[in-house]
Amino acid sequence: MEVLRYDIVVLGSGLAGLRAALEASLTSGGRLRVAVVSKLHAMRSHSVAAEGGISGVLYPKETGDSFELHAYDTVKGSDFLADQDAVELLVRLAPEEIRLFDHLGTPWSRLPDGRIAQRPFGGMSIPRTAYAADKTGFFMMSTLYSSLQRFDNVEFFHENFATSILMEGGLFKGVTSVDLESGEMRVIMGKAGIIATGGAGRVYSFATVSQASTGDGISIAYRAGIPIKDMEFVQFHPTGLVPSGILISEAARGEGGYLVNSRGERFMSRYAPQRMELAPRDIVSRAMMTEIMEGRGFTDEESGLGYLHLDLRHLGDRVFREKLPMIREITRKLIDVDPLEEPIPVRPATHYTMGGIHVDTYGQVLLNDGNPVPNLWAAGEVAAVSIHGANRLGSNALSECVVWGRLTGAAAASYAMKASDTMLELSESLARRVKEEESRVFDKLIHREGGSENPYEIRRGLQRLMDDKVGIFRHGSTLSEAWSQLKRLKERFRGVRLEYTGRTYNNNLRDVLETASMLDVAETIIVGAIARTESRGAHYRLDYPKRDDANWLKHTLVYYRVGEEPVLAYTPVRIVKWSPEERRY
Ligand SMILES: Cc1cc2nc3c(=O)[nH]c(=O)nc-3n(C[C@H](O)[C@H](O)[C@H](O)COP(=O)(O)OP(=O)(O)OC[C@H]3O[C@@H](n4cnc5c(N)ncnc54)[C@H](O)[C@@H]3O)c2cc1C
Repeated sequence: MEVLRYDIVVLGSGLAGLRAALEASLTSGGRLRVAVVSKLHAMRSHSVAAEGGISGVLYPKETGDSFELHAYDTVKGSDFLADQDAVELLVRLAPEEIRLFDHLGTPWSRLPDGRIAQRPFGGMSIPRTAYAADKTGFFMMSTLYSSLQRFDNVEFFHENFATSILMEGGLFKGVTSVDLESGEMRVIMGKAGIIATGGAGRVYSFATVSQASTGDGISIAYRAGIPIKDMEFVQFHPTGLVPSGILISEAARGEGGYLVNSRGERFMSRYAPQRMELAPRDIVSRAMMTEIMEGRGFTDEESGLGYLHLDLRHLGDRVFREKLPMIREITRKLIDVDPLEEPIPVRPATHYTMGGIHVDTYGQVLLNDGNPVPNLWAAGEVAAVSIHGANRLGSNALSECVVWGRLTGAAAASYAMKASDTMLELSESLARRVKEEESRVFDKLIHREGGSENPYEIRRGLQRLMDDKVGIFRHGSTLSEAWSQLKRLKERFRGVRLEYTGRTYNNNLRDVLETASMLDVAETIIVGAIARTESRGAHYRLDYPKRDDANWLKHTLVYYRVGEEPVLAYTPVRIVKWSPEERRY
């Protein structure tokens, strides 16, 4: 088995991973050797699909915006579960990042006077979302990927599926990964590591996220003994296209789109009279599901899904050409609807993982005793810093990716520059662990004797279970049913069988590895949701409909225990400035 040695291993090549690789290269003047390991080709990472934009205070004098206001909006949007010191870091650094991308060549949409244009977004009290039409993620990713081509010290391992992280003596040592082309396992060792593997929205089936957002990094960290934070907070985006779930960006409502029920009412006036369609996503999604459940929606005959209308007809041709070209292209191609002439059928879809790997304000991974792993960081959607708390505001995710990409890239680089090469020795016990991992992946999964379970049935069963029982409205009894059913699925997964046993591009093996991750992720969501007997942000309990600050103003941590039930613990929310108050929009 090949053993490769680098200064820094970055796991994941989305916006967070690439920004970290760039910062590590800049910090070290291109001296540190950086491996970027990604199960996809870098430019197929989910981040390329980001549409509406990135938040940041760019022109405070002209617009009246301020760091204080951005931070307050974010904390209120989070239903007061965000760590406020982290939010302050986000708002201070996000504008620098937007300007850096400007210098690197991102084609931001502009105002007539040449300033970077900013649009309104849900829960933001001022237009502060910078954008490149409705293809912001694609342009930011192209900017980063092309900038990285200048650095010889960065090596990409595209289509390499990481299966575990190696830890020894409380330190990160490297990763094991399967090269999907050859089917061989590699060990990629590093003096420092950054996990940037994105979110886990695919544990649900009606979702806006890429097929690859299966939460592998969360599962890998969980199994390495690292606590996973706040997973019960899953974001449902109000406007998933029916029947596919493909995202219709919030930019459509930011540019003035209306949500309308089957009676022709702009029903948001009943739920958020001041902000209407631009209330935060948890509130809009719940309002939409209420309309559908109370019979004021439409029904898609083919899928049976209830939906509402997103009406953009009044925006006119110019807005579509200049600001929302992709939305028009998507609806015309996928459902033969021209949004200039007809409303678009939409319903809430799973969109974002607010929870993730437990890290401190600077992205350093924390263990269950609260101590950091000195040479391991996590950034982007996989990490719970936590700036989004119980509900993320749209356009804050891209800022998070680049701000914490930068911070973790710099921190990993300064660690690696001081560390000795002896860190890269593969000890006997690590070599044994690598052998065990190789046997788990290739002998136990590919050649499992007597296995008869179809992995795709298990994956579909899991997604159905999460859609039906762990959705927007939850209840203690359905969550308990979900927990029992999940345990049965995990049991069945032990008897999974692969029909294709070849090594080269064994996509079935990849799918099985992803399903294993999804089962772990679902476990962390369900146990957190059962325990949290209150409603906060995206976690709404019909049996506990009120927020309960006296008992629940705290972050959930879930730990993995081999052969045992997961263990729960809690850690306080860091409140710097804003005490919890009622959220009104
Ligand atoms: C359709 C859509 C549009 C969005 N638009 C916006 C927006 O306009 N503004 C905003 O702020 N947010 C938006 N979001 C959210 C935002 O896009 C994401 O949170 C963000 O892009 C995540 O970036 P990331 O770098 O953390 O991870 P990703 O871009 O998801 O990248 C994850 C990386 O990890 C790699 N990886 C995963 N597992 C493994 C493994 N086992 N082994 C090796 N590599 C692995 C993948 O190959 C990939 O390179 C949107 C989300 C969706 C679904």
